[in-house]
Amino acid sequence: MGKWTRVRYCSGLPLGDDGRRVTASKKHTDISREIARQGMVLLKNNGTLPLGRNGKVALFGKGTFDYVKGGGGSGDVITPYIKNIYDGFLELVGEENIFGDSVSFYREYVNDMYGKGNFPGLIAEPVASDDLIRRGSDFADTAVISISRFSGEAWDRHMDFDEGHGHRDVDRKIVSRSKEIFEHGDFYFSDAEKDLIERVSSAFERTVVVLNSSGVMETAWLNENEKVDAVLLAWQGGMEGGIAEAELLLGVESPSGKLSDTFARDIDDYPSTATFFESDTYVKYYEDIYVGYRYFETFEEARDKVVYPFGYGLSYTDFEISCAGTEVSGDTVRVMVTVTNTGKCPGRETVQLYFGAPQGKLLKPARQLIAFHKTALLGPGEKEDVILSFRKEDMASYDDTGKVSEASWVLEKGDYILYLGDSVRDAADTGCPVNIDDDIVVCHTGHKLVPHKLDKRLLGNGEYEKLELKDDETPKPQEGYWKAPAQSYFIPEERVYTTEELKDAENLPKLIDVYEDKLSLEDFVKEMPDEEIMHLLGGQPNRGLANTYGYGNNVKYGIPNIMTADGPAGVRFRPECEVYTTAFPCATLLACTWDTELAALMGRTGGKEAKENNISAWLTPGVNIHRNPLCGRNFEYYSEDPLLTGKMAGALVRGIQENGVAATPKHFALNNKETNRRHLDSIASERAIREIYLRQFEIIVREASPWSIMSSYNVINGQRASESHDLLTGILRDEWGFDGMVTTDWWTIGEHYREVMAGNDMKMAYGFFDRLKRAREEGLLSREAMEKAAVNILRLILRVD
Ligand code: BGC
Repeated sequence: MGKWTRVRYCSGLPLGDDGRRVTASKKHTDISREIARQGMVLLKNNGTLPLGRNGKVALFGKGTFDYVKGGGGSGDVITPYIKNIYDGFLELVGEENIFGDSVSFYREYVNDMYGKGNFPGLIAEPVASDDLIRRGSDFADTAVISISRFSGEAWDRHMDFDEGHGHRDVDRKIVSRSKEIFEHGDFYFSDAEKDLIERVSSAFERTVVVLNSSGVMETAWLNENEKVDAVLLAWQGGMEGGIAEAELLLGVESPSGKLSDTFARDIDDYPSTATFFESDTYVKYYEDIYVGYRYFETFEEARDKVVYPFGYGLSYTDFEISCAGTEVSGDTVRVMVTVTNTGKCPGRETVQLYFGAPQGKLLKPARQLIAFHKTALLGPGEKEDVILSFRKEDMASYDDTGKVSEASWVLEKGDYILYLGDSVRDAADTGCPVNIDDDIVVCHTGHKLVPHKLDKRLLGNGEYEKLELKDDETPKPQEGYWKAPAQSYFIPEERVYTTEELKDAENLPKLIDVYEDKLSLEDFVKEMPDEEIMHLLGGQPNRGLANTYGYGNNVKYGIPNIMTADGPAGVRFRPECEVYTTAFPCATLLACTWDTELAALMGRTGGKEAKENNISAWLTPGVNIHRNPLCGRNFEYYSEDPLLTGKMAGALVRGIQENGVAATPKHFALNNKETNRRHLDSIASERAIREIYLRQFEIIVREASPWSIMSSYNVINGQRASESHDLLTGILRDEWGFDGMVTTDWWTIGEHYREVMAGNDMKMAYGFFDRLKRAREEGLLSREAMEKAAVNILRLILRVD
């Protein structure tokens, strides 16, 4: 097939080896199920699980039918079907082994609520009568209670009902969600859910709770309740999630997911909760680098607040992890590990390596993840030898105030202890520290993204360091015309050419000439007049199945209009197109697999569905850090840890791009709250920005070379991300060597010319041609910046097939 034939003519030709379409094929939905099985986390088990296939079961909780496959907004996926836990039990044990009356009760209730326009995961728990529960316990010894949660784009999760909190739309109005919805529980269980669990667990010999949740929830209560025998954290498992839940409960396979976040007792135990809802216009990141386990493992008084630590997850078998020594050669450290299945059934284990850096002039978290590996399926008695390797400089800290060397990555002298195990809490000292003789300045970067309004930050000794408030020297929107335009959802229109124009264009160079090495991309762009480049710098009309518009589209220069589509849990098409795609589990579940090969497989599979349907840029993965459980979009993101996020999402990016489809890691950067996300200023120290919030993007750029990146809506330390030269040029390109295209998030408010000058190449979904023209006339927009942006956009188009 010729270059761009598929994208030019929307041919939709099948990509299956058998000549059939692969989109939502059995092969792909099986992969979705496999990921779901690998990433669900068994939190509690007193021996009740696995249930085995012979017993009978009674299903309770509206979540039995009100199953949530994934979150809402642009991260949603339109699928041919969705399998809930009832479907799973039905497939595996048959109708005769499932208590029928509770099935009818919940099925009717949920259908009725959906029929009234309610959203999955946002309906109240109905009261199951004592009689229903009693009859259920006469039928079966085991009850499985399903609890579901939903969250989505542009609103945050909640702790309690409070008019002042969250749930605002892009115009900052409180979204009309009723009080009842808040009362249905979110981080916490609702009273109705607690009552159901209490009554069911009192009536049944064995009770298992399944959490089908978009994010971290309270678990202390379940963990301590002796009548609850087992808890499976199923996350949002995609279209096949209900089957995977049943498979794990019955013991078709042993659970092997490990938490990618710390589960603490209360929402207030997360230090970031204190400032999460403080303001609608800013968030102060006072906890600094002490996010997630970096906080809970460092401070003595915080340790007891953990119910389930980062990296934790039970299995039906046991493993022994032993360290056979370390080897240091130059900058590379290698840790030799043997994992043995010492239990009675096959299973997979994740070995996790953490380091504890010496407390020097800079204080540091007690433990930080540095490498990990998930084993193959090991039978009883089987072993796997694993080598975990990393570079010494990966353990560096960022010194923003010059305690060792100002604005530099530094490795302070001392012993870096290596801890090995199967969770951050259980990892044990290997006895083989890495010693650094003298302070090393790994790299001087200079100050970038400097905070002006951060007055303090948490230190590793529990005290707050007072920070200097500075004058904000970042360029601000001018008054009058150049004040950033109000957000408006303009739709890109098709350019219309006269016959004469087209005739004249016959002699112009065409992009295919660059592809065929007849001229350089830079020379090609040099030939283009200002106006042609300006058209190129904004989104192009939509064609085909998605609704997120295109890049390119210049007939005169032979530039195709390549299409984008959303992710991350699958390729999202408009429902009216009636082309259904595979809905994979949410990104947090994928992270909990700790399996980079599986992440690559998901990328390869989803990327193929994108390609088959003529999509050239998939707007995935979402890699913002889980700073706080309340962020409404956490389900699209991986973890509280940047290394785990970077490695997993990096593998996904590689898988996608094998198809000749661009991945688009997003939202760059510090987009950690949804309420008022287009205006919110994330106020954070350079150290926290570097070590926590940019690290995963850096890993992805350096290790997976994404062809594009999406900048975020929010403001960072006083400047819009899409207008930040520090972020998009200084860090992304100059420091990390990114050679792809940067697009804005869709309909962002940034001023177009300032975005181009900062290194944001593409404005989506609509570019402001007239404003670019005026900026050019006034000397505010340079030809050089325009050419750079055009080269980056066209390089992306040249890369896709
Ligand atoms: C979201 C992006 C998404 C884009 C296009 C935005 O509102 O923040 O993640 O890719 O819309 O749908």
